[in-house]
Amino acid sequence: MQEINILWFKKDLRVDDNEALIESLKDRDIIPIYIIEKELWMQKTHSYRQWQFCKECLIDLRNSLKAIGQPLIVRTGKVIEIFEEISHNFDIRGIYSHQETGDYFTYKRDQKVRKWALKKKIIWKEYLQFSVFRGNLDRNNWSKKWKKNTERQLFIKPKKINPIAFATGEIPEDDYFGFKDDFCKGRLKGGRENGIQRMEYFFRNKLNSYSKDISSPEKSFDSCSRLSPFISWGCISLKEIFHKANSNQNNSSKMLKSRLTWHCHFIQKLESEPELEFKEFHPYFHKIRKKDNILLQLWSEGRTGFPFVDACMRSLNFNGWLNFRMRAMLMSFASYNLWIPWQESGSVLASKFIDYEPGIHWNQCQMQSGTTSININRIYNPIKQGKDHDPKGTFIRKWVPEIKLYPENFIHEPWLMEKFNSRAYSSSKYTKPIIDLLQTTKIARKKIQEITQKEGYWDISKEVYLKHGSRRKPLIKRKNFPKKRDFKLKKEHQYELNIEL
Ligand SMILES: Cc1cc2nc3c(=O)[nH]c(=O)nc-3n(C[C@H](O)[C@H](O)[C@H](O)COP(=O)(O)OP(=O)(O)OC[C@H]3O[C@@H](n4cnc5c(N)ncnc54)[C@H](O)[C@@H]3O)c2cc1C
Repeated sequence: MQEINILWFKKDLRVDDNEALIESLKDRDIIPIYIIEKELWMQKTHSYRQWQFCKECLIDLRNSLKAIGQPLIVRTGKVIEIFEEISHNFDIRGIYSHQETGDYFTYKRDQKVRKWALKKKIIWKEYLQFSVFRGNLDRNNWSKKWKKNTERQLFIKPKKINPIAFATGEIPEDDYFGFKDDFCKGRLKGGRENGIQRMEYFFRNKLNSYSKDISSPEKSFDSCSRLSPFISWGCISLKEIFHKANSNQNNSSKMLKSRLTWHCHFIQKLESEPELEFKEFHPYFHKIRKKDNILLQLWSEGRTGFPFVDACMRSLNFNGWLNFRMRAMLMSFASYNLWIPWQESGSVLASKFIDYEPGIHWNQCQMQSGTTSININRIYNPIKQGKDHDPKGTFIRKWVPEIKLYPENFIHEPWLMEKFNSRAYSSSKYTKPIIDLLQTTKIARKKIQEITQKEGYWDISKEVYLKHGSRRKPLIKRKNFPKKRDFKLKKEHQYELNIEL
């Protein structure tokens, strides 16, 4: 049988700056394969829109590989079964892939694949996809390691890949998954070519004014890089963006580079503790919230009666992307005001994002729900957010047409219309607020504060910080390393509730 290496594409759908591809080609011919796992796609966090984006990436990758000799091979099924099938036709000498810090499903699947490979005496070599590190990690040296790895030279794509006698396989039709079309008409299209176009456009036209409109829900569509889906699916490597930003030393570049660091900083936490997808950082927050499918659905459909929340959600439903601040506000509203478990609302949000990246996502969901114990808690006030970032209500009018004719004074708080023009208000088709904002905020704040006052809370919080907290300088070198008893008083841990009301 012909000896081959398998090049297993995961969320690294590119031929450029692809270390696994370069290494796999060093000693023999390869089978470059992507495996579509139905079980993975059927999870609550996955969706039709993500599949469409992924499919576009696969088509693009298949063409790029074909241009250098061997198109992408696609199979549908369980990874071990597919590898087993290949082993009946070829002598597999090695499996090459990037390290994946995905969700719990991929974590468990990789464990099984590792066992299988070991049994078959096949070497599985994994390369860094991001600057996220495996094994026992000293968080004190993380930043240095991040910089060193991200500054490494880019890998040039191979000139030629020998063709292999193995059926390329079809990308399955959409109905294979049974997804419902979720009408995400405004999303970006997948694939490296589209990603590179977006990156060039951003660096040429937008980088210098990057910080200006980053929080405006409308303008951020153009002013933010919107590279997240391309990074998440691996059409462009993080290193490529970092290198491009490095050639420019202004403040905007620094800002972009620090965001790329956050990207890995968050994924690192999931890498170090895969259970964070469903388990609170701090155990005292376990099961404090209550499931409520009706509230969850109203929130998910943008029918809460709070115009700015609903506008953001409806825009997300249509576009598959939203800026950071608005994501945080949606999550905060679900967790504090609706008091829904973050695991439930987080899954709904994940399925709406074409850039769903488990490491970032679940960390952010927990941060915006106050369960990490090492971040400053923020309960967003959606009325204030709307007034700050959509002062004239243009964005609201676009997405909440039920109130598009309301005067500016009432657009953020349509219920104030009742006193002014009760007929117009009561005949409006727009939902009346589903909760009392002031009251729910007060209650949420009180509940969180009570938990922080429980015996032993700060001791556990310190452990969480030592394992996951970000720090530029090694903690042990700091003179003011917090002592156990006054840990919460130190400046770098401002454990306070920052309420916007
Ligand atoms: C509740 C919630 C869920 C989120 N879920 C995801 C997710 O599933 N996938 C995802 O990529 N981002 C997620 N984010 C982070 C952030 O909102 C997006 O990365 C950002 O909006 C993407 O837009 P952009 O590419 O224009 O970012 P830019 O501002 O242009 O930044 C460039 C890149 O830096 C990284 N980045 C930027 N902000 C952050 C951040 N706060 N944390 C970590 N990395 C960051 C991203 O890779 C991004 O593409 C989430 C934020 C919140 C509050």
